[in-house]
Amino acid sequence: LSDRLSNTFRNLKRRGTLSESDVNATVRDIRVALLEADVALPVVKQFTGRIRERALGAEVSEALNPAQQVVKIVNEELVGILGGATRRLNLAKNPPTVIMLAGLQGSGKTTLAGKLGYWLKEQGHAPLLVAADLQRPNAVTQLEVVGERAGVPVFAPERGNVFGHDAALETGEGTRSFGDPVDVAVDSVTHARDKGYDIVIIDTAGRLAVDVDLMRQAHDIRVETAAHEVLFVIDAMIGQAAVETAKAFADGVGITGTVLTKLDGDARGGAALSVATVTGEPILFASTGEQVKDFEIFHPDRMAGRILDMGDVLTLIEQAEKAFDQVQAKEMARKFMAAEDFTFEDFLQQMQAIKKMGSLKQMLGMMPGMQQMRAQLDALDDREFDRVEAMVHSMTPFERNHPKQINGSRRARIARGSGVTVSEVNQLLERFGQAQKMMKQMSKGGGMPGMPGMPG
Ligand code: GDP
Ligand code: MG
Repeated sequence: LSDRLSNTFRNLKRRGTLSESDVNATVRDIRVALLEADVALPVVKQFTGRIRERALGAEVSEALNPAQQVVKIVNEELVGILGGATRRLNLAKNPPTVIMLAGLQGSGKTTLAGKLGYWLKEQGHAPLLVAADLQRPNAVTQLEVVGERAGVPVFAPERGNVFGHDAALETGEGTRSFGDPVDVAVDSVTHARDKGYDIVIIDTAGRLAVDVDLMRQAHDIRVETAAHEVLFVIDAMIGQAAVETAKAFADGVGITGTVLTKLDGDARGGAALSVATVTGEPILFASTGEQVKDFEIFHPDRMAGRILDMGDVLTLIEQAEKAFDQVQAKEMARKFMAAEDFTFEDFLQQMQAIKKMGSLKQMLGMMPGMQQMRAQLDALDDREFDRVEAMVHSMTPFERNHPKQINGSRRARIARGSGVTVSEVNQLLERFGQAQKMMKQMSKGGGMPGMPGMPG
């Protein structure tokens, strides 16, 4: 995905303007790229449709080149769909808060119960894990092991006993008779209220495929316990099937949020986009391994970055936007349109805008696909930049606005004033003259200007 998008954006950058055919070509590439990242087809269609609409819209920013604009739009849309700002857990006013986990078998529910319990305990809560997966005999045992690792007590069906670290309660013994998962879940809430647990985490059963009976059971658990959160747990590696599965759980059980698991694998995040689009509910947490601490709050912006995999390009865009004065940009654009002569005054303004963005080399280094330019970058000395600026500063306002009038004696004076040689001044003026010509041509063609007089 990364390579493909980089190529797309590189092509855009070369062209300079964002025409309808550019947008269409980009959208086609993004569509393929998202499919490769395992985003489900209907989601891809919906997403690229929105990108196309926005890219063709009037939101043209002078501060960003077309490539950056498209990245920005794609990123904004991704973050928006993935849930915008991170949502926190819904906690009940009157404890216990009931959090229920639902999802296919193997999605990571039981593992997540331990992680969530550990995390909440660290924050000063008193969580209780509830074994409502009575589908497989060893499911309860598995949760007990998980609870022990997390240091969180487990409520299991057998006579409503609590196993694990709750030393005050008797431990289970003998054979277990597996009760009804809905009853166990309901009992656990009463138990929690009695014993002062403020959060109940209910682990439920899942099948390898969507199953009507288990879906109804999960639905009943949600209703009977009046769950405050129903977290849909989904393996990030699930790929195209994410849409169907998410839809089944959203419709059949009713969910309030999603947890993505196995993000430590090589999943590219496609499932995140699919699930968030289909359910319309935010992704709250990410599971990133088998250990109890491999758990984090889900950050939509980071996931968008992962899906885009554009390195620091987003940071770059932010910096460019901050640094570039919009008014100045408009004035500049007007001048180009009018094919007026570009002067050293304008040049100075551009230089200062670039300086505000921070080190030029650092800036270029953040752009994707700039590795090929490494050699050129290394030759580009920030001090040379300063020398150019010093020369422009040594010019009088008249000279800055009428570069062609800078004759021999003026050149000598500028060289003296800025501590450079006359030939360096000559070079600058020559490059500047070429840049002026280029800009005139560009303004006729409607293209974006580059930096005139830049060394290198
Ligand atoms: P459940 O059937 O939904 O309860 O899923 P489990 O919690 O039993 O997890 C199924 C398997 O996935 C187990 O082997 C877990 O160790 C593993 N697993 C769960 N979450 C993660 C994760 O975030 N990363 C990795 N690598 N493995 C996980
Ligand atoms: Mg399980």
